[in-house]
Amino acid sequence: MDKRTFIKTSALAGAGLLAAGQGKASARSFLAMKDLFPDKLVNDQGVYILPPLDYPYNALEPHIDEQTLHIHHDKHHAGYVRGLNKATQALADAVEKEDFALVKHWERQLAFTGAGHFLHSIYWKNMSPHQSTPSGDLKKYITRDFGSLDKLVTYFSAATKSVEGSGWGILAWQPVAGKLVVLQAEKHQNLSQWLSIPILVCDVWEHAYYLKYQNKRAEYIRNFFDVVNWDDVGERLDLLLGRTK
Ligand code: MN
Repeated sequence: MDKRTFIKTSALAGAGLLAAGQGKASARSFLAMKDLFPDKLVNDQGVYILPPLDYPYNALEPHIDEQTLHIHHDKHHAGYVRGLNKATQALADAVEKEDFALVKHWERQLAFTGAGHFLHSIYWKNMSPHQSTPSGDLKKYITRDFGSLDKLVTYFSAATKSVEGSGWGILAWQPVAGKLVVLQAEKHQNLSQWLSIPILVCDVWEHAYYLKYQNKRAEYIRNFFDVVNWDDVGERLDLLLGRTK
């Protein structure tokens, strides 16, 4: 069973739908996001969890250094996961008690830490020590929507470099028009576009690159593309295309 089939099958089995033999349409609407998202970001109790890296902390050297990966994954990302669980619990308590005095604060925390958790989880998988190039539908849509991979990389790099303050460069699939779009995010959650789903993300918070690159954000972005895992990006797009065509 390949990874993609495994993901789909386990999502269906997890929801008890394979055994129940329910129709595809109802299973699809119920499962959509869980089935689409290839990363396990919650445990069986619905508590958000920090996924481990798929590679050793030094595997992306010299492009992304070992110390940065340790701090970035084990401290920063772990902090977002803790904050997301805390905000989730606080909001559940607020609903239970019908006490919404702090609802604005916790909703802000929910958006900030949730977006931080989800984007970092993609970011780790978007990188690999093994070289790759876009293929299949990913290659087809990059060519159709941007002209070529080189043009996409130039555009994505310019957008990412010019993020004001801390944030992200994002390549996303926009099911509304059936096309790829490049977006910026400030912090984790601002400026993004609803209904577009990230498939390639580049973290440009200083914690992602400052130890090694200091103020040279553009050099970090250039080197990021040397470790991009295009197979992972392509798999994310394939899953989305299977659900939106
Ligand atoms: Mn980060």
